[in-house]
Amino acid sequence: MGSSLRILHLEDNRNDAELVQAMLVADSIACELVRVETRNQFLAAMNQGGFDLILCDYSMPSFDGRTALALAKEKCPDLPFLFVSGTIGEERAVEALKNGATDYILKDRLGRLAPAVRRALDEAQERTQRKRAEEQIHRLAYYDPLTGLPNRVLLQDHLSQTLRNCHRDNTSAALLLMNLDRFRDINDTLGHQNGDCLLKDVALRLRSALEESTQIARLGGDEFAVVLRADAKGAILLAQTLLKALDDPFVLEGLPVDVRASLGIALFPEHGADADTLLRRADVALHVANGTGSGVAVYTSEQDRYHPERLALMGELRQGMASGQLVLNYQPMINLKTGQVIGVEVLMRWQHPQRGLISPAQFIPLAEQTGLIKPMTLGTIEAAVRQCQAWQRGGLNLTVSVNLSVRCLQDARLPDQIAKLLDASGVAPGRLGLEITESCIMGDPERAMEILTCLNRMELKLSVDDFGTGYSSLAYLKRLPVHELKIDKAFVLGMMRDRHDAAIVRAAVDMGHDLGLVVVAEGVEDQQTWHGLVAIGCDAAQGYYMSRPIPAADLPRWLNESHRWSALIHMAGR
Ligand code: C2E
Ligand code: CA
Ligand code: CA
Repeated sequence: MGSSLRILHLEDNRNDAELVQAMLVADSIACELVRVETRNQFLAAMNQGGFDLILCDYSMPSFDGRTALALAKEKCPDLPFLFVSGTIGEERAVEALKNGATDYILKDRLGRLAPAVRRALDEAQERTQRKRAEEQIHRLAYYDPLTGLPNRVLLQDHLSQTLRNCHRDNTSAALLLMNLDRFRDINDTLGHQNGDCLLKDVALRLRSALEESTQIARLGGDEFAVVLRADAKGAILLAQTLLKALDDPFVLEGLPVDVRASLGIALFPEHGADADTLLRRADVALHVANGTGSGVAVYTSEQDRYHPERLALMGELRQGMASGQLVLNYQPMINLKTGQVIGVEVLMRWQHPQRGLISPAQFIPLAEQTGLIKPMTLGTIEAAVRQCQAWQRGGLNLTVSVNLSVRCLQDARLPDQIAKLLDASGVAPGRLGLEITESCIMGDPERAMEILTCLNRMELKLSVDDFGTGYSSLAYLKRLPVHELKIDKAFVLGMMRDRHDAAIVRAAVDMGHDLGLVVVAEGVEDQQTWHGLVAIGCDAAQGYYMSRPIPAADLPRWLNESHRWSALIHMAGR
């Protein structure tokens, strides 16, 4: 306990107050007690603030402890409140604790006081830290740390909300996407730090060129988006205002730098009825604006052909799927307490005959845009169930988890299709896991919730994936019928180096446990992180340190070689 504590002491007996202070000091708790004995004095002191703790007598001639507790809980709910009283019956003590008192100490047992004070302060500090971490999770999930602007997730939320309102009111909306011309050159020649400064300045100028109620976000890199309730004319006018805002040169390292930008516009309802479609179409228009140097382009359906590369890849994906180029790898998840493998996550790769191995991050979005994702996901589930069955026959009982994509949770046929696959294989439903992210739910939350409830009734294992990157809405999480929470690797990778990441991981573990969920950390790349996760009570881990995603055929050998996990457990337990 570093500096001196400020304690507000509600006590009518001066001698008792002195005794309390002496006891605390004797137990090396440096403190300053401010003694009050009436309601008015108590209120005045609380209004003044600056206290670390309240000690309170229970019965006093001019005031009573019960009322004091109620007042304190109303004014400073987080301040620890301890009764120090000569008489407090058991019943009243229980009532006091129920009403939010931290503890009670009898005056003839003052030896308990110092430990109780210490515990109360520790708990209060932990609460504050957790609250901070929760706020931090929220901020990280919805805001861009560089510019402080809302990020892609929040923009998608805003956009969906705006579209719902416009639909209801029969009005139009516009989505403007903007990127800076030659930003990469600026980054390369002047360095990333200057690039970051420039992005911050650009964000400031854009923000101040807009009315307060107009939403702007940074989507990543040098890409910004604005949502506006307006028609084509209004959108083009705003685009010009934004371009104008960048007219004056920016100053980087004392040098003036000219920055130009391009904008693509997509309109509701003409170009799309949902956020995804509008984002995609505004992006197409932005490419046109970039390519022609026209500054601003409004989407037209002919523009879609400006994406020959993407179209080619889409065609190839369809063929690749048919000819078995999509391969599945499996990455083990390990129980941090027992070292046992609790299951595997199925991760898809595209073995392209010319382009080589393509990451799912590249081709899953393509599949989502073409509708290919549904057959693809069903194919993956079918293969996963078959693999699970084969392992089961070989005496290996593993839960196999498949990633579900946005569209899948909008398709009411999914539960039936899965039930059929499971029935045919004889694999128990609990052996099949489904990992879902926020975006799976957000499009049509009601429908998604219905399907999830159904899958839950079928007793599949449901997980919330990528926790921390957009899913921080606790209200949602509480309502979801899921069993597991996976903390995104973005936080786990850096948790041993970065205090904030560590706080987020810890808060996520606590939150998950509060909600009765099993918590899995993904992205464990080293032994320190493993031990760090054990220390905060995380249940399971997944990461390169234990195993990369591997072909099914390699799993038995990996399992044979993985005695070292039990070794790790013993080390941690010592
Ligand atoms: P995800 O669901 O968050 O999967 C975890 C990703 O983290 C995988 O990347 C995995 O290889 C990677 N990873 C695991 N441990 C570590 C580690 O210790 N360090 C680092 N740096 N990375 C680690 P992958 O396989 O590239 O998959 C990327 C994303 O693609 C997945 O993210 C998932 O969202 C999506 N995806 C993969 N397969 C499928 C699929 O079959 N269907 C759908 N819809 N999406 C899939
Ligand atoms: Ca996953
Ligand atoms: Ca993830």
